[in-house]
Amino acid sequence: MTARTLGGLLRECAKLLTDSGNDNPRFEAEHLVMAACGADRKDLLTDPERGVNAVQLDTIEDFVSRRISGEPLQYILGEWEFYGLPFYVGEGVLIPRQDTEIIAEIALDYAKKHGNPGSLAADLCAGSGCIGITLAKLTGVPVKLLELSEQALGYLRRNITLNGVDSLCEAVHADVLSEKTAEEMPQLDLIVTNPPYLTAQDMRELQTEVGYEPESALYGGEDGLDYYRRMIPLWSRRLKPGGMLAAEIGMGQEREVMRIFEQSGIGAQYEKDMCGIIRVIYGIKNGG
Ligand code: GLN
Repeated sequence: MTARTLGGLLRECAKLLTDSGNDNPRFEAEHLVMAACGADRKDLLTDPERGVNAVQLDTIEDFVSRRISGEPLQYILGEWEFYGLPFYVGEGVLIPRQDTEIIAEIALDYAKKHGNPGSLAADLCAGSGCIGITLAKLTGVPVKLLELSEQALGYLRRNITLNGVDSLCEAVHADVLSEKTAEEMPQLDLIVTNPPYLTAQDMRELQTEVGYEPESALYGGEDGLDYYRRMIPLWSRRLKPGGMLAAEIGMGQEREVMRIFEQSGIGAQYEKDMCGIIRVIYGIKNGG
């Protein structure tokens, strides 16, 4: 890179990203320059002549070449926002998606309406912890966050502290498909989950960036439904009557997942994402 100022660097980065076929070069260049130079958006706008030092130049060169190779922007930055809250991300953990804010919204609504001092929630396959941590932080409901991957668990624990919810959130190293794990859990008022749900076909067609994310957070078996089939019957038993279960799903999985909900004694409803795709199945356990 030849630029020696913030503004120059921003233009140079945006150009390199554009030439590499990036869909959102200006946005990504801003994020990369801010992270590499310790600048915020206001600095970029009001102080474009600010000089950059050798370390910052080395850093931005590294960032841009990694991005051009296909590494996700979020992994390079090491942090990403979900529901207005910060989350550490990197190799070994699924990046919080904007679509997942829908399930967070449904859980928040339920907890605000029905939460009481004795309420308890669980986030199954918690990953970075974005759903459960948001729920705890914005409602004060305690949440147990279950995650099997040691690597993801590292991010999860740091994200609990980053968001100041250590007294509400407990990271649990556990397999959500194990009978023992479910049986040892207390009765719950609310269960949220964004399990791996991509199909074998999806896995063969992954976008370059998604290929950097852990397969164990993405692949849900041949038809993507393995987790729902095993997890929902098991965990519906842990749900109090009147409690809610909400699960994110992949495109076209609604019929089968709603059927599994109903068979497990949970009346099923759905919610669509911004593209009009049914993204969340949720419902209240009968008998409440
Ligand atoms: N939404 C993710 C994707 O499309 C998949 C997440 C998941 O399997 N839970 O890459």
